[in-house]
Amino acid sequence: MSFAVTILGSGAAVPASNRYPSAQALQIDERVFLIDCAEGTQMQLRRYKIKIQQIKGVFISHLHGDHVFGLPGLLSSLNMLERTEPLDIFCPPYLKDWLAGQLKFFTPLGFPVHFHTLDNKMYDVIYEDKRFTVTCFPLKHRIPTFGFLFREKQKLLNIRKDMIDFYCIPLRDIPGIKEGADFNTEDGKLVPNAQLTLPPVKPRSYAFCTDSA
Ligand SMILES: [Zn+2]
Repeated sequence: MSFAVTILGSGAAVPASNRYPSAQALQIDERVFLIDCAEGTQMQLRRYKIKIQQIKGVFISHLHGDHVFGLPGLLSSLNMLERTEPLDIFCPPYLKDWLAGQLKFFTPLGFPVHFHTLDNKMYDVIYEDKRFTVTCFPLKHRIPTFGFLFREKQKLLNIRKDMIDFYCIPLRDIPGIKEGADFNTEDGKLVPNAQLTLPPVKPRSYAFCTDSA
């Protein structure tokens, strides 16, 4: 299962010839989560062959231009690609108002955009699914700014295939063993879980933390 970060841009507000301003793509399996979306984000996504149709959510750290000026263009492109799937945007207050000013000149978007406005005192889980959680935390900057911690959930124990064969473990018992249960053989012998399993793969995490004193 993939959990990979691509730094699309790491530059600051003044344009540079050799790097783009802030944007990162976190790919978890087939899904892309965009963190910041400065100018040039779409070109960088192309360069790294990351499909914009696979973007499931956008996390905006703050409303300085070198973190958001790519967003109107991205939404416009998604519309041209006939996206219908909703897009979640996690952002500080007023992003919606800022974007609304741009979007009124566009062809109406064919997909819903759900804005999740972050509160400057928040240190909270703002997104959760089966695989991972995202926690936001406030940073110290001139305007409301957030960091994001993406964290995989604890995984299940790995059951040993040789033990399945050796003890003829039926399929119905496997989920329980992966959660830590022991196994009783047909002739009444108790096999401790530690003999049947290997430790789970360590959960991975990634923290995005920028523009903070
Ligand atoms: Zn800033």
